[in-house]
Amino acid sequence: MKVEFYKHSLIDEDIQNTVKALRSLFLTTGPVCAEFENRFSSFTGVEHTVALSSCTAAIQLTLEALGVGPGNEVITTPMTFIATATAIIHTGAKPVLVDIEPETGLIDPDLVESAITPKTKAIVPVHLYGTMADMKAFRSIADRHGLFLVEDAAHCIEGERDGIRPGQISDAACYSFYATKNLTCGEGGALATNNRTLAEKVRTLRQHGMSNEASDRYHGLYQHWDMVDLGWKYNFNDILAALLITQMARLRFYWEKRQRLYSKYCELFEGIDILTIPELRGKSAHHLFTIHVPSRLRDFLVRYLGEERIGVAVNYRAIHTLTWFKKTFGFQANDFPKAKAFGDRTISLPFYPNLQGEELNAVVAAVIGGLNQIPK
Ligand SMILES: *Cc1c(COP(=O)(O)O)cnc(C)c1O
Repeated sequence: MKVEFYKHSLIDEDIQNTVKALRSLFLTTGPVCAEFENRFSSFTGVEHTVALSSCTAAIQLTLEALGVGPGNEVITTPMTFIATATAIIHTGAKPVLVDIEPETGLIDPDLVESAITPKTKAIVPVHLYGTMADMKAFRSIADRHGLFLVEDAAHCIEGERDGIRPGQISDAACYSFYATKNLTCGEGGALATNNRTLAEKVRTLRQHGMSNEASDRYHGLYQHWDMVDLGWKYNFNDILAALLITQMARLRFYWEKRQRLYSKYCELFEGIDILTIPELRGKSAHHLFTIHVPSRLRDFLVRYLGEERIGVAVNYRAIHTLTWFKKTFGFQANDFPKAKAFGDRTISLPFYPNLQGEELNAVVAAVIGGLNQIPK
């Protein structure tokens, strides 16, 4: 049986809503984007949402709007997708990596304080696989040192920890609607913030630094616009916003399905002593399901599963081990030993609402089959 690594959950209703947007006057950032932003704010409980072309854009523009730039340092984790760090680098600031808690893969708040220097401007925790980093701890560190706190919530629309959800006690949370994320339209992103000034600044920066938005210029009487800042072209569009709006009503239902799949995987993998599953904290958004095997077996098992037609991925090899980061920052593999070990052991398995019971059983059987191939 072939099992895809990921399948989206779009239905006719989403497609119809998109067709409606396609038949409207204005295809880019307009009323449908605004409707999506309002609905997203209701879901997150965070006052302002600004829709953007990607989560990478959201992280960069949030930092830009907060004044982060050349000469500054921003603390983040090596156990993430490269975009967390490259968004920091594109502001001109330097990413400073801090090692993880091995049980969860999350950036370790106890190690952050010793990485803070007079140049540090912000901390960007990543809510890996949907489990939130310890935001209470990060809030108090940020307060103590006068730092901004920006969450990479690309995996974590639905998560909660200590009664806190993304965007609620930070400067902003950044989300992704990329092809494989829990809420998807292929490409897209957003930031959520309770800071009105920050939201307005990002609205300007996403559209060339222009004083009013494109739809304002096309609806109603012509009005001169001004360029008030140096911005980027990171705006979202009504076609893709339409695809997200109808999906939002099903987010909780899909989360419950992934929660059941998570429990099923854990149950079936129980008792295999060379296989472990990262620990959760609080309510995970359940974005990815990962297993850990000894690093000497990982690449063998990845290849074996591929040959058995089971879709797999590695999220992630620690970013400080990748060529460009090594070359640019002089990182050594053992600079962040816990992230290195975590990234060398991890395999992501198929995990999405429409994954069928028999498919999940086939994945588990293939993993066990692969481990049995390995000479003891
Ligand atoms: C997907 C992802 C991003 C980037 O999202 P884009 O919308 O593709 O820019 C950033 N951080 C993490 C942890 C991600 O998984």
